[in-house]
Amino acid sequence: MTLSRQRIAIIGGGPGGYEAALVAAQLGAEVTVVDSDGLGGACVLTDCVPSKSLIETSNAMTLLNRAGGLGIATGGLATVNAARLYQRITDLARAQSRDITARVAGEGVTVITGHGRLAGPGTVRVGEAQIKADAILIATGALPRVLPGAEPDGERILTWRQLYDLTELPRDLIVVGSGVTGAEFASAYQALGSRVTLVSSRDRVLPQEDEDAASHIEEVFRRGGMTVLGRSRAASVRRDHDGVVVTLDDGRSLTGSHCLLTVGMIPRTEGCGLDEAGVKVDASGFIEVDRVSRTSVPGVYAAGDCTGVLMLASVAAMQGRIAMWHALGEAVAPLRLGHVAATIFTDPEIATVGVTQRAVTAGEVSARVLKLPLATNPRAKMAGVTDGFVKLLASPGTGVVLGGVVVAPRASELILAVSIAVEQRLTVEQLAHTFAVYPSLSGSVTEAARKLMEFTPDAP
Ligand SMILES: Cc1cc2nc3c(=O)[nH]c(=O)nc-3n(C[C@H](O)[C@H](O)[C@H](O)COP(=O)(O)OP(=O)(O)OC[C@H]3O[C@@H](n4cnc5c(N)ncnc54)[C@H](O)[C@@H]3O)c2cc1C
Repeated sequence: MTLSRQRIAIIGGGPGGYEAALVAAQLGAEVTVVDSDGLGGACVLTDCVPSKSLIETSNAMTLLNRAGGLGIATGGLATVNAARLYQRITDLARAQSRDITARVAGEGVTVITGHGRLAGPGTVRVGEAQIKADAILIATGALPRVLPGAEPDGERILTWRQLYDLTELPRDLIVVGSGVTGAEFASAYQALGSRVTLVSSRDRVLPQEDEDAASHIEEVFRRGGMTVLGRSRAASVRRDHDGVVVTLDDGRSLTGSHCLLTVGMIPRTEGCGLDEAGVKVDASGFIEVDRVSRTSVPGVYAAGDCTGVLMLASVAAMQGRIAMWHALGEAVAPLRLGHVAATIFTDPEIATVGVTQRAVTAGEVSARVLKLPLATNPRAKMAGVTDGFVKLLASPGTGVVLGGVVVAPRASELILAVSIAVEQRLTVEQLAHTFAVYPSLSGSVTEAARKLMEFTPDAP
C-alpha cells in the first residue's frame, strides 16, 4: 500500500515561508507556496538584503575615508555614485530572489504568484484557484508602520523600502525613530556622506539594547557629526518645496532634504481571512502562536514577522521549519528565543546573544559581567580601530557563559564564539583555554573570559 503524500500550503515566500517549504519538500510532502511579491520576501527584496548591501558600501566608505591614517593617500574624501549604488542593491536583491526561486523549484515545490487567503478548513484560495492542504502555514510578513500626519510620498518622505528608488544621496536626512532600523540607516548614510539628524523619542538611541553598547554608538554617531535628538517625538512630517519639515511635539521644527520613517512594523495580514477562519491575533494584530508555531486553529500554523515574535529572518526561518516538523510528525524542539544571536549593523556593529545585563541589573539572573575595551586589542590598534568592546556575562557559581555583547567592526562574525559558548554551556575557563589567533579581534573574547576566570570561585 502506498501512503498518500501530506499536502502543505504556505502563504508567503519570505524566510518564514520558503525555508519551511524546503523542509517540507525534504520530508516528502507535496508543497505549494503562494507568494505575491517574489520569493525571498521583504527580507530579500526590500529589507534585510538591500539594507545590508547598502551598509557594505558605507563600510567601504568609512575605510576609504580612514585610509589617510593608515598611510594611504586617496586625494580627498571618497564620494558615492548613488544611481550605481542603488542599481547594485536592487540587482543583488533580485538575483538572490531568483536563486531562491530556482532552489525551491529544484526541490519540487509548486509556486503560485498571487494573493493567498484562508478559505475554509484545509483550503487556501488564490484568485479563483483553490489549494487543498493537510496543513497550512501563514508567513505573510509585516509592513512599515505609518504615522498619521507623516504619510510617505516615496520622494522626500520615505519608508526604508522606498530608499532604493532615489536617484541621489539624501543631502540632509532626518531619520525618525532610533530603533535598530533607524540606527542602521542613520549610521550608513552618515558614512556615505549625508548630513544626518536622528530623532529619538526616548532618552537614548536603541532603547531596547544593551545600555553600554547604545551609549557607545550614540557617542560614535555624535563624534561623526550626527545630530541626535533625544526625547523628541515627531508629530508631523510634510513636504516643503524640495525638502521636508519635521515638526516635533514640543513645537520645534527641523528641515532637511529627505525624511526616513522607521517607526516600527504592522502585521501584513489584511485580506488573509484570519477572522473568518477564527485565527486569534493579539491587540496589535500579530498572529498568536505557541512555541511550535501553532495558531488557535488546528492545522493552521504561522511563522515570521506576521507573528511579531522577534522580527529576524533567522527566527522566521526557524519558526517555519518547526511548523513543518510538527505538522509532518517529526520530533521537534519548541522555539527557544534565549539563545538567538542578533546584530545591529551600525558602524561599529553591535552583536548580542543570551542573558542581558538588563536582566542581571533587574535581579532576574545572577551573573558576573566583564567589559573589555577593544582599544587595548593589538589587531584593533593595527587597524586603527578605537571604538568597541567585548562584554561577557557568566554564572558566578559555575562560570558558565550566559551571554555576551560585542561592539566591533564585524561583530556579527565575532559573536559566534560567544554564541557557541552559550548554546553549549561552556565555562569561561573552557573559552579562555581556547586558542585565538594572534593578533585578532577574537582574542578579546578569550581575554575577557580569562579575566572573568579571576572571579569564578571554581576556577583553578
Ligand atoms: C530594514 C530591515 C533590515 C533588516 N535586517 C535584518 C538582518 O540583518 N538580519 C535579520 O535576521 N533580519 C533582518 N530584518 C528582519 C527580516 O527582514 C524579517 O524578520 C524577515 O523578512 C521576516 O520574514 P517573513 O518570512 O516573516 O516575511 P517577509 O520577508 O516579509 O516575507 C513575506 C512574504 O509574504 C508575501 N505575502 C504577504 N501577504 C501575502 C498574501 N496574502 N499572499 C501571498 N503572499 C503574501 C510577501 O509578498 C512576502 O514575499 C530586517 C528588517 C528590516 C525592516
